[in-house]
This record gives sequence, structure tokens and C-alpha cells, in this order.
Amino acid sequence: MEHTQGLLSSSLADLTPGDEGAVITSIETYALAVPLAKTLADATTRLTAWTVPVVEIRTADGRVGTGISGVHNGAELLTQVIDRYYAPALLGASAEDIAGTWKRLYWLPTHWIGRAGVVHMALSMVDIALWDLAAQRAGIPLWRLLGGTAGDIETYNTDGGWLNLSKTDVVRDLGALADQGWRRLKVKIGKPDWREDADRVRAVRHAIGPDLTLMCDANQRWDFSTANRMLPVLAEAGMDWFEEPVHADDVIAHQRLQAAAAFDIAAGESLYTYHAFANFIAADALRVIQVDVTRVGGVTEWLQIARHAAANGLRVVPHAGDMMQVHQHLAGTFLSETEPLLEFIPWTQDAFVHRSVIRDGYAKRPQEPGASTAIAPAAREQWQLKDVGRVSSGAGRRCGPC
Ligand code: MG
Repeated sequence: MEHTQGLLSSSLADLTPGDEGAVITSIETYALAVPLAKTLADATTRLTAWTVPVVEIRTADGRVGTGISGVHNGAELLTQVIDRYYAPALLGASAEDIAGTWKRLYWLPTHWIGRAGVVHMALSMVDIALWDLAAQRAGIPLWRLLGGTAGDIETYNTDGGWLNLSKTDVVRDLGALADQGWRRLKVKIGKPDWREDADRVRAVRHAIGPDLTLMCDANQRWDFSTANRMLPVLAEAGMDWFEEPVHADDVIAHQRLQAAAAFDIAAGESLYTYHAFANFIAADALRVIQVDVTRVGGVTEWLQIARHAAANGLRVVPHAGDMMQVHQHLAGTFLSETEPLLEFIPWTQDAFVHRSVIRDGYAKRPQEPGASTAIAPAAREQWQLKDVGRVSSGAGRRCGPC
């Protein structure tokens, strides 16, 4: 522990003075609970609101970089990691040193209790805020800073196939989304009796016809045997991909399913590190890589994973824990033979100063400088959670609680 504290102190002291305007002067955390229009469920949970933990990093030049996450609950756990452990290591440091900051925060002693999950998601929030600042300082949107293609990005719609809807309602809602222009739709599965899901999937395909692309998602709730039993049903329904069929850590089960399936196995929303993805990729256990910028270590680690996956000939289709705000910048920033595709869920559009713009199922590239993460003042006024977050300011100090 002392060894790590020493590393932290010396790295702050030795920091090369760059642009003094980029020095971090304060850090504020808070969270919003954005209500949903209706109660939704997948195979793991029921939702009435989507919670958005936020970090705002201010620099000496007056800029504010905003990092976000997306959770069902537990927002205070993410903000506490930032407030108690990351803020002391960030104050007084340069916001321009993104990779260096990533490594310093990752190797704080909090690593030992959270190299995946809460601690890593807090690191993601900080990393996103620093990339937001970098794009603001460059005066361009993040996708341009990353060299992304300027074209519109196709989206697929997750927001019509929820597990708590009756078969009739699912068919109605997915049909309505097709009428609105989406050509790719997802339906939730994972009921205790797989035969109910088989019936549901057949009904949806029959209703939407053969031309629309259909995916399904079991949210890890089946074992290998059940998932394996469903493969012929899903093939008959012309599935494009089968998402999270079994426990997210079970590389071998995914590998066996992928070998047996006539379509792609997809996962990634429950994987947190480059190394976790690399193991799945090496095992040929996934063909669709759903890396989420809010679950892995922010933009920095997302790019590393996406490039590795694309270089292995795999599709990269991010899971939208950020409700697409950051991913709309990240898609199309690396070389791939497949066109970029984004998951569209519209739950938090009103929380942001710059809403994402979707036309006929395609996302327009944002034009404002930054990562489109700035929170709308009215949203904060309306939806901020009490007793979550704090303001940290002043010169950097040693990481006492570490
Ligand atoms: Mg999913």
C-alpha cells in the first residue's frame, strides 16, 4: 500500500507542466434518476427509472468536462469512489494526460476491491469527462477528434421487446418501431419456461415479416442446456444474434454455443476489461462485441477493445449504458468491414443539453464540441438524487483513505 502511495505522490510531483489551463481545479459528482414513460423488465430486473451518475471535472481555463454512467441503482457507490479515492489524485493534475491518469487511477489500492464493477465504472466516468474536455479544448466533437467517419450511424431499437409485455403487446410495439423507420429490432427472452420464449419469438417473426433484422437477448438467465435447446428455434426465426445467453463470465459455454449456432452469439455489457474481451475473442466465443463505454474504463479502454475486436473480423455494436450519448461519437472511429451500428434507447434524452438526433433509424453525428455529455440544468433541477455526490476542490493531496 505504501509503495502505491509513493508512486501516486511522485507521479503528481513529476507531472510535466503543460497548458496551465488544463489543470484540474475541482470535481463535482451527483446523480439523476430519470423516470421512464412506463415500467419495463428484462430477465433480470424491473425498471421505473434510469439512474445517471455524473462527474463534472473543472479546469483552470473554466471548462467543464462531464462524465456519465448508467445504472439501475447504487449511483452513490460510483460517486463515492470518485469523491473519496479519485478526486485527491486528480486535483492539480493535467486533464490532458488521459492515458497517464487512467493508469494512475487504475493502480490505486481500490484496484484490489474493484478491477471490475463499481470502481472500474467510476474510472470510466472520469475518463469520459477527460475526453469530453479534450474535444472541447480542440473545439470539435469527440468523433472528429478520434478521426471518425462523418456519415450517419444506423441504430437498432431495443425499446419495444421487453419481457414484461404480453406477446400481443410485443408484436404491436415492434411493429410500431418498424413503421417509424427502424430496420433492426431486438426482443427480450429468458423466461423460466423456454417454450414461452419460443412461442413469442415465432409470433414476432411472423408479424414483422422476413425482411427486418431481429435479435434476441436472454440477459444471462439461462444455463447452457436451455440456451442450447433454443438454438434451432432461433435459427428458424432468422435471428441475427443471440445476446447474453448464459452467465457473462462463462467463456466455454459461449464458445460451445457459438460453435453450434447458425447465427452470432453476442455479449459485452457485463464484461469490464480489455483482457476479458480478449479471452472471449481468442476462444471464438463471440461474434458481436457489445463493449459499453460506461462499463469498461471509458473511451480509452473502449477504443482498445473495439480495435482489437474489429481486427479479428468481429462486429462491434456497443451496449448503450450511456443511452447512446457517448457511443454516437465512438462508432465509426476504427477500421471495420461492417458498417457501424448503435443500440438506441431513448430514456435519458431530456437529461442532456445536446440530445442525440435520430432520423429514420439513423443517428446524425453531433456537431457541438465535446462528448455530448453535458447535463441540462433543468434535468438536474428536476431529477437530482438527494444525498448523492459532493464537490472536491483545492490543490491535490495524498490519497488519505487509500
Ligand atoms: Mg443486453
